[in-house]
Amino acid sequence: MLSEELRNKYQLVVGLEVHAQLLTESKMFAADANQYGQSPNTLISVITLGHPGTLPKVNKKAVEFAVKMGLACDSEITRYNIFSRKNYFYPDLPKGYQITQDKGPICIGGVVPIELADGTEKVIRLNRVHMEEDAGKSMHLVGEVDTLVDFNRAGTPLVEIVTEPDIRTPEEAYAFLTEIKKLVKYLDICDGNMEEGSLRCDANVSVMLKGASEYGKKVEVKNMNSFRNVARAIEHEHERIIGLLEAGVEVISETRTFDAATGTTASMRTKEDLNDYRYFPEPDLSPVVISEEWLHSIQATMPALPRELYRKFVDVYGLPALDAGVLSDAKEIALWFEEICSKTNNYKAASNWMMGPVKSYLNEQVLHIDDFPIKPTILAELIALVDAGKVSFTAASQKIYPELLKATEESSLAIAQRLNLIQESDEGSLKPIVESVLAENGSKVAEYKSGKKGLMGMFMGEVMKKSKGKADPKVATKILTELLEN
Ligand code: ADP
Ligand code: MG
Repeated sequence: MLSEELRNKYQLVVGLEVHAQLLTESKMFAADANQYGQSPNTLISVITLGHPGTLPKVNKKAVEFAVKMGLACDSEITRYNIFSRKNYFYPDLPKGYQITQDKGPICIGGVVPIELADGTEKVIRLNRVHMEEDAGKSMHLVGEVDTLVDFNRAGTPLVEIVTEPDIRTPEEAYAFLTEIKKLVKYLDICDGNMEEGSLRCDANVSVMLKGASEYGKKVEVKNMNSFRNVARAIEHEHERIIGLLEAGVEVISETRTFDAATGTTASMRTKEDLNDYRYFPEPDLSPVVISEEWLHSIQATMPALPRELYRKFVDVYGLPALDAGVLSDAKEIALWFEEICSKTNNYKAASNWMMGPVKSYLNEQVLHIDDFPIKPTILAELIALVDAGKVSFTAASQKIYPELLKATEESSLAIAQRLNLIQESDEGSLKPIVESVLAENGSKVAEYKSGKKGLMGMFMGEVMKKSKGKADPKVATKILTELLEN
């Protein structure tokens, strides 16, 4: 653990490189299916394997997905895109090179606002988002002497999202990744699954003296398979590099690998044995030109973004930040909530239903909101019944809601009538009940009038009993107060 003193002496600086696998049906440059979890080496055409004489072809959907990411981050979209070959030898790279964007990324700059623990917002600038293809996968199976290789993943479309070195703590890195995952899922361009490798992150870490005008030498850490492990790896490097600086040892630019079991990193390669990738323009692909028309058609498919919905929920619906955060976290939940809100103005009640009974049902049943048995309009009707005083909230949540979960054709009102839950909220018929309760409790009324206001609860209890639980508490309280105070 670092001492407070050392923590205050040095500044941590982090930049992230996030690879997101795009959810296209086919690969980046070939028609092979883009699927995870298939039998090894079954999704490998001659194009993916780079056989001589084969020609790659750009996947239009993948380009559109990359543009969507850029639009969501306010990046500048490059109109004239060329691909390059990055040459290197590795067993999982069937062609001997990777097709990527070297000089001109499809999205330049941009921003990703993140929310910090204290509720404040910080903007992380993007350097770029570029398109490339994934490599295959080497497999080191238990009990096997040989390393096996599965090329199914080779040619999977990727975007690489590169931040500026704007991140200052492991928590900010975690928050940034959370935001990116939320974004790609909202955009439907990546499933955001880190365990399956759909989202992968390398962390560039350096440390400098506080107030220094130049960043320190950075190391790049790889092989973290969860957001938490990215944060752990950064904190480990933070402490390790400060240790080096304090001991007067020079920090060297290197690539390190993270070991989740120990929470430590180890050197993989240094800059000295840096590859010369001999980049050159891919001769088999013509440039991808994004016309004004194409860009507009992509713009037209952009969904509402999580932070836009969050702001709407807070500013327009007047919801607490906590509610707005939970409800805008996943697109399908946010859209479902929006549908209730198109049918009711009681947004807080709608939020309470979503955050309480609906969410717990989904969790218990391990259900997706699309398979939730109650439609948003039906829930809006139930909210209206409670608001009109026809049924109590308790009756709605404990009696009617469980009936609705059975997905019958019956309306909330019909259920309320069948179960005899309609409240007496008519003043005219409630007043005689209240009067008779007061008449029967003359001495208590006198005590109340002499100051024992706490007796109100007891009167309410009696009214409830006499009305067989059907008195609308709001109306009953109003009549009780009127009669007792006069
Ligand atoms: P390289 O040429 O080594 O690939 P880049 O300038 O392309 O370096 O940056 C790669 C990533 O490293 C980016 O995410 C960037 O923000 C980050 N980065 C650059 N310099 C530093 C630094 N001194 N400390 C931490 N991160 C850095
Ligand atoms: Mg670089």
